[in-house]
Amino acid sequence: MTLRKMETDVVFIGGGSAGLSGAVRAGELGLKTVVLEKLGSCGGDAMIAAGFWIAAETRFQKEKGIEDSKDALYRYFMDYSSYKCQPDLIRVLVDRAAANIEWLEKQGLVMNKDVQIHGPTTVPRVHQNDGMGAQYIKVMKERAEALGAEILLKTGAKALLIENNRVVGVLAEADGGDQLEIRGKGVVLCTGGFGRNKDMVSEHVPLKKHVMVRAGWANGDGIRLAREAGAQIGDLNVCIAYKAETPGTTGLSMRSFFIILFSNYPVVNKFGERFMDESIWYVYFAHALYNQPDSTGYIIIDEALRKGNPFTDFEKEIGAGTIKKADTFKDLALKAGLPPDNFVAAMERYNRYAQAGKDQEFGKSADNLAPLQTAPFYAIEIWPLVLNTVGGPLIDANARVLRPDGTPVAGLYAAGNNTSGLYDGYPSTGTGLQISSIFGQLAAEHIKENG
Ligand SMILES: Cc1cc2nc3c(=O)[nH]c(=O)nc-3n(C[C@H](O)[C@H](O)[C@H](O)COP(=O)(O)OP(=O)(O)OC[C@H]3O[C@@H](n4cnc5c(N)ncnc54)[C@H](O)[C@@H]3O)c2cc1C
Repeated sequence: MTLRKMETDVVFIGGGSAGLSGAVRAGELGLKTVVLEKLGSCGGDAMIAAGFWIAAETRFQKEKGIEDSKDALYRYFMDYSSYKCQPDLIRVLVDRAAANIEWLEKQGLVMNKDVQIHGPTTVPRVHQNDGMGAQYIKVMKERAEALGAEILLKTGAKALLIENNRVVGVLAEADGGDQLEIRGKGVVLCTGGFGRNKDMVSEHVPLKKHVMVRAGWANGDGIRLAREAGAQIGDLNVCIAYKAETPGTTGLSMRSFFIILFSNYPVVNKFGERFMDESIWYVYFAHALYNQPDSTGYIIIDEALRKGNPFTDFEKEIGAGTIKKADTFKDLALKAGLPPDNFVAAMERYNRYAQAGKDQEFGKSADNLAPLQTAPFYAIEIWPLVLNTVGGPLIDANARVLRPDGTPVAGLYAAGNNTSGLYDGYPSTGTGLQISSIFGQLAAEHIKENG
C-alpha cells in the first residue's frame, strides 16, 4: 500500500453530473482539477438519465413561439415546494438554466429542438439532449479531460482533510488499497443521493414502501463528509418518485415497464378498484399509489398492448408469477388475489368509459382510455418507484457548504443530489440535471474568484 500526495486547485468528489459539469467549468477557468470517481466509469444517475433539461426563455422556446419567463419558472418551483425551497438558490437556477443549455451545446452536446410539457403545468419548457444522459456524460468527461482535468476512476473519497477549520483536501482510496492525499483550494461534494444506503433510506425516504432504482453508487458519502466538516444538514426526506415498479421482478426490463406504464392502462388497488386518472404526472402517480392500502396497485393490460409491443421478457415473468394472466376479468382477479366482484365491475365500467370517450370517475382524457377487450388479460403488481434521494448539506448561491450558524465551511462546496434547499418533491423532469450541472459550475467559479 502506498500513499500518493497530489496538489491541485479543485477536487470534485464524484464524477456524475455535478462533478463533470463542474470539472469542465473549472478547466475553462484555468483551474487545475481532479475528479474522484469511486466506480470504474463516470456517470452516476446522470448516466441512466433521459437527458431532459428544464429552462425558461431558451432560443428553442422562442423559435416555437412559446411564451415563458424566468420569473414564471421561479414562481413554478417555489409554488411546487410550498415555498420550502431556498429562494436565492432557485433564483440562480432559473437565471442560469437557459444559458446553461447554450453552454452545454458549446461543449459539444446536441440539443433536440423539441420542447415538452412535464409536470403539473401547461408551459412547454423541458428540453432534451440527443443521446440522453449517457451522451451528456461522454461529452462532459471528454471535455473535462481535454481541458486538463485528471479523472481518477475506482478512487473513492474517504475523508476530508481539515486544518484550522478549513477543508484543505481529501483522503481517498484507490482500488487495491493505495491511499491518496489530494490538497486543493476547494473540495466539491458531488456524490449524488443515498438510495443504496439502507439505513438512511429507511430513516428518511417518505415513501416507506417503494422500489428503489438499482443505483449501486448512491451511498450518501457526501452527506457523511459534510457532517464531519461541521455542516448544517438540511431535509433528507426528499426523493424523486417516478410512477411505479414491480417488486422483486426477475428482470422485466425498464423498457418493457415504461411501455406498460406510459400506455396509461387502468390501475386498481387491493380492493380491485381504480383510484386515479392513470395518466397523471408521474410524481403524483407514485404518491397516489403510495396512499392506497398497502401502497400496492395492479396495472391491468390486455393482449392488444402485449401484441403491439416488442416485449422480450413477458413469458419469463408470467412463468415467475410476476405477471398474472387469465382469459376473463374474474379469473384474473382470482389469480391476483383481488375481490372479483369489485374488480369485474371496475373493469366493465372502465370499458364503458373508454367506449364513450369519457372517464366519469377520474376524468382521464379520451386519448388515454383504451378499452380492455382482447383476452388474455394481465395483472402486474406495482409499488411506487423511487429514482433516488435528494438532500444533504445546506449551501449558498455560490455552492458553499454552510454551518449551523449560516457561515460557510471554508474550502467546502456541494452540488447536485447531495444538497438540500432546491427540491421538495420533484417539480419537473429536467430539474435534477440542471441543478447538478449549474451548481457544480458555480462551485468552480467561486473557487476561481476566491481560492
Ligand atoms: C433513471 C433516471 C432518469 C433520470 N432522468 C433525468 C432527466 O432526464 N433529467 C434530469 O434533470 N434528471 C434526471 N434524473 C436525475 C439526475 O440524473 C440526477 O438528479 C443527477 O444525475 C444528479 O447529479 P449528481 O452529480 O448529484 O449525482 P450523480 O449523477 O448520481 O453522480 C454521483 C457520482 O458520485 C460518485 N460517488 C459517490 N460517492 C463517491 C465517493 N465517496 N468518492 C468518489 N465518487 C463517489 C458516484 O459513483 C456517481 O458517479 C434521472 C435519474 C434517474 C435515476
